[in-house]
Amino acid sequence: MKKLTRDTVFYAFSADLEPALEIEPGEKVQMETHDCFCGQMQTEADTVETLDWERVNPATGPVYIRGAQPGDTLAVDIEDVQVADQGAMVTVPGEGALGDIITETETRIFRMEKGQAIFNDKVRLPMKPMIGVIGVAPKGEPVPNGTPDAHGGNMDCTLIGAGCTVYLPVNAEGALLGMGDMHSVMGDGEIVVCGLEVPGEVTFSTRVLKEAKLPTPFLETAEMVATVHSAPTIDEATDGAIHRMARFLTGMVGMGVNEAGMIMSIAGELKFCQVVDPMKTVRFEFPKSVLSTYGLSLGDLK
Ligand code: CA
Ligand code: ZN
Repeated sequence: MKKLTRDTVFYAFSADLEPALEIEPGEKVQMETHDCFCGQMQTEADTVETLDWERVNPATGPVYIRGAQPGDTLAVDIEDVQVADQGAMVTVPGEGALGDIITETETRIFRMEKGQAIFNDKVRLPMKPMIGVIGVAPKGEPVPNGTPDAHGGNMDCTLIGAGCTVYLPVNAEGALLGMGDMHSVMGDGEIVVCGLEVPGEVTFSTRVLKEAKLPTPFLETAEMVATVHSAPTIDEATDGAIHRMARFLTGMVGMGVNEAGMIMSIAGELKFCQVVDPMKTVRFEFPKSVLSTYGLSLGDLK
């Protein structure tokens, strides 16, 4: 297994980055990540006023995957996500979905214990570790890590944890994969503009697909697949996620458009990933049990 420490980070996905590690498809990698504050929030006296904003949203990498060529699809199989036992959250006036009523900057430090995040004396939540930022080199100009788009990036999707496969478009040789911004728990929407932000360690391997025609970014878990779309408004992101799933069901699964629409209407789930970043991210989930009755197995994609 190859290891990549959190010492090599970047702040914008770009085709021009120097690879931090080169791997073969199928090779297992253990990668450490910083929290989104790059470890600057260690006590409740560390606030966004003292924060060095140049060091926000670091991603570890990039990882160069041998054989990945523009036009291919990169499958990232996430085997395990481990997070630290301390994390932070902040409020920032003017930021997030409640920025209009939040008037005070605050940092809170939380402990994790026995699979639970301790919010306060009364509330403990089950941890559900996830990766907020995962992406590859974009087409064209560099994209700051805080912005999600067609290359992945800051999608803040709660499905992206252990057992999830993330399908991303390859736009540059080697794909240049990076990850960061783990949350030990987060709710859909990411209301105050952060989850429970933690450093962590992800174990993953990759596959390079030459013929897959998936509408990327695309996710697969044990139970479902999901299209993920980011756009300047929630309306556009919603429309994109829905139409990408329809395209997948009509194109790859072979359903007629009416049939796809009807089955999406009764078996699909439209959900917000986050509504607080520079681009909003929406996903459309669809059960794999239905796909298998149509004879489609994503495991067979080449
Ligand atoms: Ca994030
Ligand atoms: Zn985060």
